[in-house]
Amino acid sequence: MYTAAMRKPSESRVLTTDNVHADRRFGVEHGGVHKPIHTSVQYSFDRTEDLIGAFQGTLQGAYQYARQGTPTTAALEAKITALEAGIGTVCFATGMGSIAASLLTLLRAGDHLIASRYIFGNSNSLLGTVEGLGVAVDKVDACSVAAVAAAIRPETRMVFVETIANPRTQVADLAGIGALCRERGLIFVVDNTITSPALFRPGTVGASLVINSLTKTIAGHGNALGGAVTDTGQYDWSLCPNIFPAYRKGDPRGWGLTQIRKKGLRDMGGTLSADQAHRISVGSETLSLRVKQTSATALGLARWLERHPKICAVHYPFLESHAEHERATQLFAAGSWLFGFELHDPSSMIAVLNRLTLPIKATGLGDTRTLIIPVAPTIFWEAGAEARAAMGIAEGLVRVSVGLEDEADLIADFEQALA
Ligand SMILES: *Cc1c(COP(=O)(O)O)cnc(C)c1O
Repeated sequence: MYTAAMRKPSESRVLTTDNVHADRRFGVEHGGVHKPIHTSVQYSFDRTEDLIGAFQGTLQGAYQYARQGTPTTAALEAKITALEAGIGTVCFATGMGSIAASLLTLLRAGDHLIASRYIFGNSNSLLGTVEGLGVAVDKVDACSVAAVAAAIRPETRMVFVETIANPRTQVADLAGIGALCRERGLIFVVDNTITSPALFRPGTVGASLVINSLTKTIAGHGNALGGAVTDTGQYDWSLCPNIFPAYRKGDPRGWGLTQIRKKGLRDMGGTLSADQAHRISVGSETLSLRVKQTSATALGLARWLERHPKICAVHYPFLESHAEHERATQLFAAGSWLFGFELHDPSSMIAVLNRLTLPIKATGLGDTRTLIIPVAPTIFWEAGAEARAAMGIAEGLVRVSVGLEDEADLIADFEQALA
């Protein structure tokens, strides 16, 4: 019997064949082909010794209390681990749950965190929380490894970046920062939400931990919330003084995730429910097909909009005009389903959006339907004009999350709305 671990991650088999057969690798229950939704909160043991073993970690594969995981969430974790070619994954109730747990459980007061200046608004807001707890935070232009290198201090513990930044699509110097972090012994955390393992595996550039908001690309249907943090096995956790003594046991490669599970799930409680894990798992089966299709449509639509006389800018990494085009085409299998555009006349933006009939005016990303939102007055409103300018977000920026509609239908709709 094959296992995903026997395959090279570059093989598309991991994304497709292995993915749809993943649940069967654990043995089917009652012949069910899907992993069942295990709703039990408690897990029982016939022998008291086994109950004790479950608590002391000597009984392998035992569940004790569903806040720390269930067979359903464990099956999803194994799937994400295989997709990212990592050594383990912990799932959370949301993408933000996975980012918050990673930062709050691995950093301590007095540490220094270097974050990309170009990140998702709620992650940016979380940096303020982390700062309030005594962690110094520097936000730098992560498109340049030199900017990251210049910010390193003796107390620097971690670097946090996104692959393709939501919403302005800047592409961090992932390979350069990965090499720098390895050289300096820093934990390199990469939010892979927009690209997903279908387009890019951050482990290939030396990421220590990979974040995925499962809500978006991986679940893909706008009907489930979830997040995951995957350890690539590349960081030596014995270098990290923040690992609690209780978790400094066995192979150091497992220490980081043990702490994230114990502190992040058990103590903080942002647990993914079995129902949501099931939906995410089923959604993930079409990940590769969806991302191929939506990336092709996004490129076609972005090219069309770029030539339109009423559009002054289109931000999409696979357009030749994008500042990090070359880097993006080297790193990613395609440009993703996310792009942004700006109108020559920003005062016409609301009317143009109102004339569109297919793109749905809604927040959120990575649905089967195209979603559209003006960025500055909505998701980046709380951040304020100064923060928006620092993140390269123009007041007239419109974000588009491309769905599965036919490209010709989307182009026709934009054509009438812009006329
Ligand atoms: C949406 C998003 C998140 C947060 O995910 P949720 O599941 O909504 O909590 C994190 N990072 C990026 C890049 C996102 O787009």
